[in-house]
Amino acid sequence: MFSKILIANRGEIAVRIIKTCRRMGIATVQVYSEADADSLAVEMADEAVLIGPAPAAQSYLLADRIVDAVRQTGAQAVHPGFGFLSENAAFARRLQAEGIAFIGPNPEAIDAMGDKITSKTFAAAAGVSTVPGHMGLIDTPEHAVQIAREIGYPVMIKASAGGGGKGIRVAHSDADMAEGFAAVKAEALNAFGDDRVFLEKFIENPRHIEIQVLGDKHGHVVHLFERECSIQRRNQKVIEEAPSPLLDAATRAAMGAQAIALAQAVNYDSAGTVEFVAGQDKSFYFLEMNTRLQVEHPVTELITGVDLVEQMIRSAAGEPLAFAQDDLAIDGWAIESRIYAEDPYRGFLPSIGRLVRYGQPEEGEQDGYVVRNDSGVREGDEISMFYDPMIAKLCAWAPTRDAAIDGMARALEDTHLEGVGHNVPFLAAVMHQPRFRSGQLSTRYIPDEFPDGFHGLPPSPHQQHILIAAAIAMNEIQAEQDGDPSDRTDWIALIDRTPHGVSLSYDADEALLLSFTGGGEARLTEIDWRPGLPQFRAELDGEPFTAQVRRVADGFIIRHRAAQARVRVLRPQVAELYARLPERQPADTSRLIQSPMPGLVVSVAVTPGQEVKAGETVAVIEAMKMQNILKAERDGVVKAVGVKAGDPVAADDVLVEFG
Ligand code: ADP
Ligand code: ADP
Ligand code: MG
Repeated sequence: MFSKILIANRGEIAVRIIKTCRRMGIATVQVYSEADADSLAVEMADEAVLIGPAPAAQSYLLADRIVDAVRQTGAQAVHPGFGFLSENAAFARRLQAEGIAFIGPNPEAIDAMGDKITSKTFAAAAGVSTVPGHMGLIDTPEHAVQIAREIGYPVMIKASAGGGGKGIRVAHSDADMAEGFAAVKAEALNAFGDDRVFLEKFIENPRHIEIQVLGDKHGHVVHLFERECSIQRRNQKVIEEAPSPLLDAATRAAMGAQAIALAQAVNYDSAGTVEFVAGQDKSFYFLEMNTRLQVEHPVTELITGVDLVEQMIRSAAGEPLAFAQDDLAIDGWAIESRIYAEDPYRGFLPSIGRLVRYGQPEEGEQDGYVVRNDSGVREGDEISMFYDPMIAKLCAWAPTRDAAIDGMARALEDTHLEGVGHNVPFLAAVMHQPRFRSGQLSTRYIPDEFPDGFHGLPPSPHQQHILIAAAIAMNEIQAEQDGDPSDRTDWIALIDRTPHGVSLSYDADEALLLSFTGGGEARLTEIDWRPGLPQFRAELDGEPFTAQVRRVADGFIIRHRAAQARVRVLRPQVAELYARLPERQPADTSRLIQSPMPGLVVSVAVTPGQEVKAGETVAVIEAMKMQNILKAERDGVVKAVGVKAGDPVAADDVLVEFG
């Protein structure tokens, strides 16, 4: 076994790998860019080596620097994590040539599976069902249109070298195809340096189901069942689970057998994932194989008890698999939520900044569920524009799917983030949806369920009680601390502008009893809050909850799960005055084009005095490698331009003003 491993990655996956190395008694070397000098991974590793400036192309993607760091520290093996060099066969070969072990599959397997066209051809030869389509390369838009007609619309245009949901587009018509073909080619060249494109049938309303495989260097391959990853935005996974609510034992066995057949066809000798799209009728078609550890691997670990990073290390060291297919079984249900620095209220655009506050849920066994939180950052860390905006992979395990969903909802409540936009309220909303609970998933889930985007959910009657109880208790605690306790029993709680009458009393056990004039009573116990804390914890009628709270001038802004409101606790006479105050109108921003996210101005397409038609591009903003094209919403004449190419901008900065 290795005694020292170098981790050629960063963030949460680096931390995740270090944890397993520590448990196995293996020393770790963390390489880092200038932006990551103070990162958690660097702090946790036994040694750290600086490999270059922040941009990945000048640090994490430089094989030379990584090999130098291996030499310098005497590490015997490299774990590449995911992204960066993890699926780079040339890097794996280079290590091999230098006598350094690559903790991943052999380079020939990476080559065979690394590009979507080659892997589809391999899969078809191995008897795996593939999406109907055209296996060859396509060079001209005319040729693409001709093939699309043969396949039959809708058709998916895909970059052979694509990954991370990039380089994919759907075409419904000849016109879509001609335009999309050029767009995917350009995007692929830009993102992957490879503009090869192919076409396949677009499976409508499908599910994404994938099989985890594990092989060793002695010809053994097993599968560790499936994960379902149908909750996606921009063809990228957000919520994953294992097992899949769709599969029955027979389909699971059939998919597992195909995944193993494919892995064996390429002498697969590490952890890998065979991805399928599945119809609602349980038909399934091969998409691609990812020859690396996958972001959602923890859900498989939680239902099988196998540590996949440990198995990758053992296999790279030449050990045979210590278990056979029959030794593996599914135990319970696990869900993963990817917590991203992004703004769910604005089309999930990336958000960057300093994580001013970061409260994490307690890990391990809770009341009826288990929490695992793979996080790569600490309070005070910067989420930078240079790398992937994932903050953490939050997982919940329980004996049943329902209990795992409940556990995830609670774990999300216990997650508190301040300083960057984040998708926790969105994830909480999904956990609340009857459709998610019913398991009727599809890759169209997010556009289906949030057709106008995400705007939070209104508080349910039970949540209204939570908001009122929290506000009243905080009010009382605050008044007591200020030396100004009131013995008033009748209050009006305004949730946003809606009044709710409530009267208070205490029972023999000092529990706070709330009686609502609208009907109903609630008993608040186990209150855990003091002025200044951003989370209010208590039990309402014996059920624990956590609310995110912020003091504002005349009350609190409180969020419970996906419901957020301004809550004011007022004496009845004051509440009456409030009801008569006119509501403040938000400023009129219809003549402004504002930056939807912090980032860099790539280009400005207009000048003052210019006439612009609705739909015309006004400016392009870039952050986290994503370009956002801002278009005029209606016809108008440009009055002023506030920025130029190269300028950094904050969210809401005014870029262009119309007259
Ligand atoms: P998963 O591991 O579940 O497939 P993603 O598809 O989101 O998850 O990819 C995991 C990480 O790897 C992300 O950071 C993504 O940006 C990166 N990634 C995946 N494929 C590629 C690729 N071909 N080139 C560059 N980065 C990639
Ligand atoms: P990536 O390398 O970016 O992960 P994939 O080929 O795995 O690319 O596709 C990403 C996602 O796009 C899938 O999870 C699925 O939601 C969708 N997708 C891909 N191919 C098809 C298809 N032929 N029909 C329908 N959806 C597809
Ligand atoms: Mg994929």
